[in-house]
Amino acid sequence: MAKDFLKDCRDEYDVIIIGSGLAGLTAANTLAKAGYSVLLLEHHYQLGGMATWFKRRGGHIFDISLHGFPVGMIKSCRRYWTKQIADSIVQLKGIRFDNPMFSLTTTFNREDFTRLLIERFKVPAENVKAFFDTARSMNFYDDQSVTAGQLFERFFPGRPDVVRLLMEPITYANGSTLEDPAISYGIVFSNFMSQGVFTFEGGTDRLIGLMKEELQANGVDLRIRCEAQRIHTEHHPLRGTRVTGVTVNGRFIGARAVISNSNLKSTIFNLVGEEVFDRSFIDAARAVRLNNSSCQVYMALKPGDLIDESVGDLLFSSTAPEFRTDLLLSRNITSRTYSFYYPKTRPGTNRCVIVSSTNARYEDWAHLSEEEYLASKQDLIETTLDAVEQYVPNIRERVDHVEASTPRTFERYTRHLQGASFGTKFEGLAVSRGLPEQVGGLYHAGSVGIIMSGWLGAVNYGVIVANDVDNFLLKNFGAPSREEASTIE
Ligand SMILES: Cc1cc2nc3c(=O)[nH]c(=O)nc-3n(C[C@H](O)[C@H](O)[C@H](O)COP(=O)(O)OP(=O)(O)OC[C@H]3O[C@@H](n4cnc5c(N)ncnc54)[C@H](O)[C@@H]3O)c2cc1C
Repeated sequence: MAKDFLKDCRDEYDVIIIGSGLAGLTAANTLAKAGYSVLLLEHHYQLGGMATWFKRRGGHIFDISLHGFPVGMIKSCRRYWTKQIADSIVQLKGIRFDNPMFSLTTTFNREDFTRLLIERFKVPAENVKAFFDTARSMNFYDDQSVTAGQLFERFFPGRPDVVRLLMEPITYANGSTLEDPAISYGIVFSNFMSQGVFTFEGGTDRLIGLMKEELQANGVDLRIRCEAQRIHTEHHPLRGTRVTGVTVNGRFIGARAVISNSNLKSTIFNLVGEEVFDRSFIDAARAVRLNNSSCQVYMALKPGDLIDESVGDLLFSSTAPEFRTDLLLSRNITSRTYSFYYPKTRPGTNRCVIVSSTNARYEDWAHLSEEEYLASKQDLIETTLDAVEQYVPNIRERVDHVEASTPRTFERYTRHLQGASFGTKFEGLAVSRGLPEQVGGLYHAGSVGIIMSGWLGAVNYGVIVANDVDNFLLKNFGAPSREEASTIE
């Protein structure tokens, strides 16, 4: 008989959360600490969503999205998770660029970028200061019609090299392009510039393990291999439309509120159904563009074979003569971002791992036959090994395990439409925030609008939405009953 992954589940919870990405996990923890009964459903066999890892024979562990995040993660993890998690966040100091325009190493913060821009790129100091101040002061309510490209043109006209330095890492960090609103660039860039790039010591497996312990200690009912198939609603003449619960693995479970951490568009069109929403809302939801996806090549060196750390932690490498969005997405790969993981990533081990990432279009991979798909993956591996050779000599002899992932892989494991790595483009944020106005008790938390994606964006969005749910439940159902509950800050 098939295993019942919902064994001993209650028939009703205050809140059901669909998806265990960082936004889902953080919302679950915040609401459970506030005293609500929370059921968290994850279709995969592992928690974390994109923030996950996989193991391979020989003891190799590969992180999927642990490349770097801003310092703000320390504060968010201390406030909404635990001191132990916050204290494990450490800086990555070797950030490198290598392209036909320039090769340099930086600590990737405002001080060092100011130095580089003035001394090396010969930009007048006042322009550099004005640019940083403008980026720092950007917020969601600013004019959204100015694009990142126009912002650069204002401060650094005719300087594609400067644009490349400023834009390439952020395109990699959240998928934003020169054509996206400048604020989606400015907010993320400023977050990184405040103190540089950070990582989690011990790897994603340790982080998610610590989060799981905390969730269980706070009473969250965690269920893996549980796929939400439907979010149910009912219309009440006085209260309007409200959520009633979720069908998961064929079973209905009631809830006063539902947070979907699933892709925004699948939440609306597949889990709820468009007939439940206003026409104008559906039009806006339909117009939301998904962000692009990515390909990765995972390379593990033989145990004990160590790479010299002067290679850097994060390397933005490109052979393209100039920085252009279409070149970044092209199947003919010219830009690769490498993360080098040394034994310090998982202290006590003697392993080095390299992960090469490239932005990619889903449609370039979606319709290949199985044979073509496997051949394309192999080609991706071979060309990547060739490209790594200049940074890690004799890589082919040194590598113990290598494999590739594509947009199809991300789609399969996270259920993101078209394997989108960073949720939706900017317009997704308003649609995500508008859900509870359409259906009482229905919320979305997860990668949207570029700003709310990435590890920090996802964690913070989880908290914002948990606050909304807390207010909704307090207003409609009164205070949670659990005595040990703390208030949400
Ligand atoms: C290759 C790559 C590299 C990245 N590198 C970085 C980086 O270096 N730094 C950084 O800050 N960010 C990085 N990101 C982005 C970052 O990982 C994500 O933005 C963030 O983790 C997304 O969190 P989320 O809460 O939106 O949910 P997701 O991680 O998207 O998780 C959603 C979860 O919902 C589950 N789910 C979906 N539908 C259902 C359903 N019907 N029933 C049950 N479960 C469901 C999925 O299985 C998944 O677990 C990277 C992303 C990718 C793809």
